[in-house]
Amino acid sequence: MKLINEDKLAIVATFIRLYGDALEKIADHYGKAIVFKRLGKTDNQYGDLMARIGNTIYISEEEVGKLGLSDPEILASLAHEVGHVVYSTRGWDPDCEQRADSVASDLGLGIQMISAIEKFIESRRYPGLTSMLVARIHFLQNIEYAI
Ligand SMILES: [Zn+2]
Repeated sequence: MKLINEDKLAIVATFIRLYGDALEKIADHYGKAIVFKRLGKTDNQYGDLMARIGNTIYISEEEVGKLGLSDPEILASLAHEVGHVVYSTRGWDPDCEQRADSVASDLGLGIQMISAIEKFIESRRYPGLTSMLVARIHFLQNIEYAI
């Protein structure tokens, strides 16, 4: 796995520094590159927080800021997106979402993933997805708080 911070985003540099080695171990089946790029305002008419095309992950600093995500919550969201890439899953299917969330959890970012999802729900950006988002929280709580 090769993590490439193409637009030199500070949060991506932090993500790679803190979690690059751990990701390599978690997803050692994945030998390709993952490229991180900025999602600029003019290319983001739907106001997405993050987007994925193939092995490229786009991050909108504006939208992430509007939602009020903390840096650890952004790191968890990046881990989730990496989870989709390394398991080649798409969004919105419950199994795919859980697989992606488990990567955040494996990196020690499960609690931060939960609070990020709570902010998505509170923002009412995706009201049609609330039940799926709640299911993701329950899945993560089962991992994080299991004895
Ligand atoms: Zn997802």
